[in-house]
Amino acid sequence: MELVCPIDQRCSDQIAALLRPPSPPLVQEYFEQLISKRQCQGIKVKQNGEFGKGLFAETDFEEEKLIFKDQMLVGAQHPSNKIDCLVCSYCFKFIGSIEQQIGRRLYLKTLGMGISSHNGCESNSSDEDEDEDDHFGHNHHNSQNGASSSTIPLPTTAVESLMNGELALPYSNKFPLPSIVSCPGRCEEAFYCSKLCAEADWDLFHCLLCTGEKSESCSRKGLLKFIQHANETNDIFLLAAKAISFTILRYRKFKASHLSKQEKTASIILGTDPSLLLEAWKPISIGHKRRWWDCISLPDDIDASDEATFRGQIRELAFTSLQLLKEAIFDKECEPLFSLEIYGHIIGMFELNNLDLVVASPVEDYFLYIDDLPHPEKKEAEKITQPYLDALGEDYSICCQGTAFFPLQSCMNHSCCPNAKAFKREEDRDGQATIIALRPICKGEEVTISYIDEDLPFEERQAFLADYGFRFQLCMDGWATKGSEELIDSNWTGSKR
Ligand SMILES: [Zn+2]
Ligand SMILES: [Zn+2]
Repeated sequence: MELVCPIDQRCSDQIAALLRPPSPPLVQEYFEQLISKRQCQGIKVKQNGEFGKGLFAETDFEEEKLIFKDQMLVGAQHPSNKIDCLVCSYCFKFIGSIEQQIGRRLYLKTLGMGISSHNGCESNSSDEDEDEDDHFGHNHHNSQNGASSSTIPLPTTAVESLMNGELALPYSNKFPLPSIVSCPGRCEEAFYCSKLCAEADWDLFHCLLCTGEKSESCSRKGLLKFIQHANETNDIFLLAAKAISFTILRYRKFKASHLSKQEKTASIILGTDPSLLLEAWKPISIGHKRRWWDCISLPDDIDASDEATFRGQIRELAFTSLQLLKEAIFDKECEPLFSLEIYGHIIGMFELNNLDLVVASPVEDYFLYIDDLPHPEKKEAEKITQPYLDALGEDYSICCQGTAFFPLQSCMNHSCCPNAKAFKREEDRDGQATIIALRPICKGEEVTISYIDEDLPFEERQAFLADYGFRFQLCMDGWATKGSEELIDSNWTGSKR
């Protein structure tokens, strides 16, 4: 029997209002504000058709020039990657010191937590390395068998001296990192590069999702259960929880400022104000959404005749996760956010627009620097550093990896012959997306990126694009998204729906 979410029934009108695509003028206003706030004046978001958005150059860009940087709306490091890289939970910069990064990783490795086998740091495309038997996608959790086979373990004392700062590695002062700031809620799971990042994260997302003693969640025990379930099934639930927490906290802020204005006129609103909830939801409303269980692609090993069962199982999994989240952070005034319909659409938004969050590792830079030293210095340094490199093995260069939603980048259309790419330059050391021109771009031209590996065979490219909601006829070998307009209904042309 099909499970029924009571909130879906109770709040159907409000849910429909939240899921209604925002009007084109509202979308335009949102992006214009965003672009001016980010000071990336060289671009403009244009809308064609009901859902089609595209990003256009407002000025000429030379090859390899920065087009814009995009701050994520919501993002998270993959749980398995937390063993490899200690980064700020808000801006995703590496924190601590080279010694702490190496020591912590070796320490966690000796605890048997294993280093994840993924080292796709150079890739900006979406997840392609899902486990064969993992039907839910995005599952990057602890792979015990992932540790490199060719590592040489170190004595515990050598690891400890790195962790507690007794041992300074040669030349590590050339790679200074911000010192670690703890979570104000004392959870010992979130760490920051600065007080500013700690406070911003707390106010925007974390105060409801912190498992520490100062958490503002209704049940820390419930929260722990929710997190455990997400880690065991699909870490995309953690991202969805962040989106919900973000909306609740915005709603409360709007309501508080609304009330303080109302007090002056002596009228007080009681209960939920639906218009405030809509306003709080606005940044999330901009992202294109479909229900997760409707848009997730059918795994290869599942027969088409079992498709309905598969989609039903995905829906059930989301429902289980939602009930755990509800126990942890439910807010009656924001009840529609806890409907399965909204939860499914938020997860679907990440499924359709998910972009990799990648930050290069300073540990990699450090070992490359040692390797590049002139001969006598190199030999001297390697006497100390080599055992650590051997202990880390091939995975020494693992970067910070996660998933994020970038509002501007999500407006960019795909082309198999793109004129731009997501690329981190030497100075880009945090979780922002950086878009660089691949060739000269003229004012008025659409800026496109490739969502997939352009060298893949045609059928595979189409399969990947189908996941993103592209129409199949698109991107025949080398077609730019423009130019195909006469051939296909223009609403669909090269645009994400
Ligand atoms: Zn930070
Ligand atoms: Zn915390």
